[in-house]
Amino acid sequence: MQKMVYLDNNATTAVAPEVVEAMLPFFETDWGNPSSLHTFGSRTKRHMDHAREQVATLIGAADPSEIIFTSCGTESNNMAIRGAAGAMRRQRHIVTSQVEHSAVLEPCNLLETNGYRVTRIPVDSLGHLDMDALKDVLAEDNDPVLASLMWANNETGVVSPVAEFAELIHAKDGLLHTDAVQAAGKLPINVQEVPVDMLSISGHKLYAPKGIGALYVRRGTRMDRLMLGGHQERARRAGTENVPYIVGLGKACELAMQGMEKDTTHEVRLRDRLENGILGSCKGAVVNGDPECRTPNTTNISFEHLEGEALLLMLDDVGICTSTGAACESGSVEASHVLKAMNVPRDRVNGSIRFSLGRYSTDKDVDYVLEQLPRIVDRLRELSPRIKD
Ligand code: PLP
Repeated sequence: MQKMVYLDNNATTAVAPEVVEAMLPFFETDWGNPSSLHTFGSRTKRHMDHAREQVATLIGAADPSEIIFTSCGTESNNMAIRGAAGAMRRQRHIVTSQVEHSAVLEPCNLLETNGYRVTRIPVDSLGHLDMDALKDVLAEDNDPVLASLMWANNETGVVSPVAEFAELIHAKDGLLHTDAVQAAGKLPINVQEVPVDMLSISGHKLYAPKGIGALYVRRGTRMDRLMLGGHQERARRAGTENVPYIVGLGKACELAMQGMEKDTTHEVRLRDRLENGILGSCKGAVVNGDPECRTPNTTNISFEHLEGEALLLMLDDVGICTSTGAACESGSVEASHVLKAMNVPRDRVNGSIRFSLGRYSTDKDVDYVLEQLPRIVDRLRELSPRIKD
């Protein structure tokens, strides 16, 4: 079998063996419906409640009932934005940023076509939100806004000052949702200390399976329901709960909580070794985003005068998995909206590769990339017409 080095953990992670083990009984023996009144069903409900506590603990939620299980991060974002926007009374102003994931941008676009005002705040060249622009927008509006501003960016890893966002938005009685899909499990989160109103999580970014997510909704937050039908999740999200995956998400949150310090130290060391190695061996390599303020596992590097797609394919040929822009969107050839918003020059946008490490990345993985990449970059440069300039 060909060697595989997986450096695309922001796209998805492996499922942790402990998570698989925790899930198995809920396929094999304890497959009851948690809404059933009989003992067999209510037993699964107890496990689901335990998972809710594990998720709540990871993000410091005061009450596990503030956690709603969903099918993914995309659903959590849609539920938060469309649900809270639907419950707005007079005010119909949504504030977001230019660098959000499409699972935030698209619901905002839809609301805009439905008559809401949507303001998309720009970012600076390091990927940080323009705080003056946010303050100006809030100052101009007498009514409270609904804001959706991400905790950590999926492409660059840049981490936002969410506590400051919350202070500014709450000072005007607004609501703050944060897409914490790339932050949960990687960074300490405490929704009591950083008082967001809603927060999205996705299982497959923190070693649980694809197809499970959660939305934290602070008690008392008014929201319309998107999924209508039964009364599951305290009538906030209809549909029989995916118990095995919920148990898996709970276990993944517990593991993340227990291992965060160790994972962070491990990932930062490997990420920095990889990054320094690349910068030292590949001419025209530049890091995108604030290197001092990003998730521990991510480095986004532009290779000047090269096509990121070509580089990705040649890396793939030798078994190295990376990503250009956001993997979820990489079916399209559209240049990264995140790097464009940061005013990264067009050539560097096109030549960018995201390396995202994880709990299971090793020194050998880094060695292999550092052995292969400079050779591939040189080869592509030889083929590039621009090198003749
Ligand atoms: N938000 C961010 C920041 C993401 O990176 C992703 C996935 O890449 C999502 C939302 C969507 O999550 P899911 O794949 O669980 O729908």
